[in-house]
Amino acid sequence: MKVFELIKKVKKIVNWRELRIMITFCPVCSCKRVMIKFDSNAIAVRCLSCRASAVYMSIVSILREVAPEISSLDAYELSSRGPLFRYLITKAKTVTSSEYCPDVASGGFKNGIQIQDVQNLSYADKSFDICTSTEVFEHVPDDTKGFSEILRVLRPNGIFVFTVPLQNAYKTIERTILTANGEIQHLLPPEYHDDPIGESGKILAFRTYGQDIIEKLLNAGFTKAEIVIPEKQIPWGFARQVVVAHR
Ligand SMILES: [Zn+2]
Repeated sequence: MKVFELIKKVKKIVNWRELRIMITFCPVCSCKRVMIKFDSNAIAVRCLSCRASAVYMSIVSILREVAPEISSLDAYELSSRGPLFRYLITKAKTVTSSEYCPDVASGGFKNGIQIQDVQNLSYADKSFDICTSTEVFEHVPDDTKGFSEILRVLRPNGIFVFTVPLQNAYKTIERTILTANGEIQHLLPPEYHDDPIGESGKILAFRTYGQDIIEKLLNAGFTKAEIVIPEKQIPWGFARQVVVAHR
């Protein structure tokens, strides 16, 4: 990236009044690191070494608590890049990863990366001990189907640990639905999130989850589900809620 473009990008994302730097423990790096906050949200809090945002630090922090025996676990992460994927690669027994691509069927490959649609995974039943995802399920049209598929590929006592943007209100707001003939219908003004993988750089959010996500997981067949918040170690208090569901 040319210096001029870099400066332009930095000027666009940095809120100078919020800019802070501190040295503190990074749960992903497992040691003290330089942290930066360039705006007032969890995505804008980063470890300068592993580049994890406060979202990644939160999920890894919870993973350390709920899966201390991770070195003996087969993991499936719904992304083939990023700080969580890199963390799992160094810690878990095996890591299977995938990306989503609308033009490729589950189990196929694109640019050497396995493609999976979480609504229809190609994996056998009971393939993994732990499944993880960050900020994926709000983009899945039929999330009930997706939760059922994660449940299916988990082994007995397996866990699903993930994040989605979660509001404190109870009820999930369905923003967009797919009609019976597969057309997108917006119930509310469409909301898009940044997508570093997709060609457009933006991805549609079908819903904004509320605390009833627990009910959705139990309805899908998980025996227990809870929302947990890392108690410490997340810089400037930007801990994110993490969902832990047990098969
Ligand atoms: Zn780090």
